[in-house]
Amino acid sequence: MTESEFLRQRIVWASTGDAQTPYLAESAGRVLTVRIGDFPEESLYTLLVDGAAVAEFDDWPSVWVRPTGDAANATDTGAEASSQDGASGAESLPFARTNAEARLFLELQPCPHCGERRCEFRSAVVSVGDVLASRYTGVCPRCGRERVYQFRLPDEILPPPADSVRFGGEDPSQLLDPGVWLWYSDTAAGQVPADLFGLDAQSARTARHTLATALAALDEVLKFIPAGQDSVPAAAFTSLDGKAIYDNEPGRFTRLRLTAIRDYYAERLANW
Ligand SMILES: [Zn+2]
Repeated sequence: MTESEFLRQRIVWASTGDAQTPYLAESAGRVLTVRIGDFPEESLYTLLVDGAAVAEFDDWPSVWVRPTGDAANATDTGAEASSQDGASGAESLPFARTNAEARLFLELQPCPHCGERRCEFRSAVVSVGDVLASRYTGVCPRCGRERVYQFRLPDEILPPPADSVRFGGEDPSQLLDPGVWLWYSDTAAGQVPADLFGLDAQSARTARHTLATALAALDEVLKFIPAGQDSVPAAAFTSLDGKAIYDNEPGRFTRLRLTAIRDYYAERLANW
């Protein structure tokens, strides 16, 4: 999709909570953000696709839908302030089931200004209207800009389990699609040593945690399989990366294969 197509296409934006880059959306597997410039010296809006600026403009495209509860003129109030105004603002926030899931999502997000992926985020629970939200703030080590993300929290907050890893409850993730979860599970599994022999206590703990992460991420893939079906439906792959992984090897997403790998990880973990 070209930049002008993005400007003509209906896009429903979510609030990021960041005053400089207040809008975030995903379209055709690309991460879209809108940055606010120093009007009139700069364009009022810059559209970024996967972190790269592709278009500058002063008039908000009429087909684009701002987050509910957002002030019409975000430059006056800052999206940060306006998203605090009411529960309607909170509803437009992306939903994170756990801190672990939000942190993984952040790990995979490039800085919207420069594309850098590294960033140390600190989190706090804030209330947006009468809804609880988690807010993650960090400073990009490359361009020095502040990065702020807010997520809607579940009504019941799942505590992290003592000796394993949990990204969410029974329902599938709304932040990451099954292709990304399987990729992440593979990545974690690839970092696990063949056995714990010769490892000191700390390294053994890390190895166990990494294997537990691979297992939990695989469980996330399984949650996308509807009851009574035997594979993840193609429609569940909503990101470009996730779709690519699925298209490359759709056979990996059957319940049978996923469960076999899952059980293998669980068994290894139980024996460690
Ligand atoms: Zn940056």
